[in-house]
Amino acid sequence: MALIVEKYGGTSVGSVERIRKIARRVQASWQEGNRMVVVVSAMSGETNRLLGLAGEISPRPSAREVDTLVSTGEQVTIALMSLALHELGVPARSYAGFQVPIKTDSIHGKARIEDISGERVMADLEAGKVVVIAGFQGIDSENAITTLGRGGTDTTAVAMAAALKADECRIFTDVDGVYTADPRIVENARRIDYLTFEEMLELSGAGARVMQIRAVEFASKYDVAFRVLSSFEDGVGTLISCEDSSMERPLISGITSVDNEAKVTIRGVPDRPGIAYSILNPVSEAHINVDMIVQNVGTDSLTDLTFTINQDDLERTLALLEPVVRELDAETVVGDSSLAKISVVGVGMRSHAGIATTMFRALSEKGINIQIISTSEIKISVTIDREYLELAVRALHNAFELHVAAGIE
Ligand code: ADP
Ligand code: ASP
Ligand code: MG
Repeated sequence: MALIVEKYGGTSVGSVERIRKIARRVQASWQEGNRMVVVVSAMSGETNRLLGLAGEISPRPSAREVDTLVSTGEQVTIALMSLALHELGVPARSYAGFQVPIKTDSIHGKARIEDISGERVMADLEAGKVVVIAGFQGIDSENAITTLGRGGTDTTAVAMAAALKADECRIFTDVDGVYTADPRIVENARRIDYLTFEEMLELSGAGARVMQIRAVEFASKYDVAFRVLSSFEDGVGTLISCEDSSMERPLISGITSVDNEAKVTIRGVPDRPGIAYSILNPVSEAHINVDMIVQNVGTDSLTDLTFTINQDDLERTLALLEPVVRELDAETVVGDSSLAKISVVGVGMRSHAGIATTMFRALSEKGINIQIISTSEIKISVTIDREYLELAVRALHNAFELHVAAGIE
């Protein structure tokens, strides 16, 4: 008898019929004697619909109220899933985040989980009930509802698995595992059988939205091995767990892309110590994540500073920087929201030269202009015009021959 946490994403619970289907799957595991915790997302499209409503009323809606609004999506699903289980004769009980409770900090829209009390859930499990938990949400110290960032149900699932010391954590989604590239972009992308936390962290961080990066951080910190599986077909999926040092890892684990990158450039900044701090500090204080940063070599004691952020944060960032530009006596600040970021990721890159050359050659052969380059030990990222995202991902997948299961160091 095992304690199993299963997460079902938006497409997997996208209709009443699909909810019934998942309920039957959960029923089967429960009948085998397993203690089942089911973590669910909002029905597909619902979170976007709710965000759209807020946007219709207010151009800059309060983050607190947006969280109260979007968290209702998951609340609908926990109730429907519990009802579907009841219809099958399974005793099930729904939990919103605050009922668990899942305690978070107060950064609305990207809150971090601080503490989970598993006692209530455990008592229900001991009593033979299936527990259905709303993903993506929590409660802060002021009793305000918070949300964990897009894709946050993955994090709820992994965090619940850690808090309950689950025997297994399964992430069910609309693809049958983690692939060498988004299978919706690259037709011959290959499913990966096994990834280390480190590899999955890099893939998620660079845009493989199949797992939210915070979920992988959590899994790595608390050593929660998990499997990514399809909710539509049977299969072994992809196992993500801690590194086995004896195992040789492939050179490149995958190609990832981000299609909502924006660029901010501050031109004509007097080149003196402290300018990067003056510009980037207000941005980070507003909890805006800065990704790549480039400072060009100055001419005539003037320099340009460019950095990239999520497109959704562009307006807010430009508004924040207007007064900074005046204070620094810089020329101007401009934004560009038509960027994509493409990355080649692989821990095997550590000991290999020439990856960057292959990457740049493949992009140049397709006539794709690179704007910003950033490199780390195990990742190379470039920003390009968004128009060429798919072309670039396919060209790189091809150039590194990721469709064939070779490339072991
Ligand atoms: P869910 O609603 O189940 O959380 P998501 O849409 O968040 O599902 O994540 C699954 C999607 O992630 C897939 O449909 C796929 O298009 C996309 N994806 C991006 N990169 C990858 C990758 N490397 N491997 C698998 N899926 C990927
Ligand atoms: N419903 C939320 C979203 O669409 C959370 C999730 O699905 O993981 O981002
Ligand atoms: Mg997701």
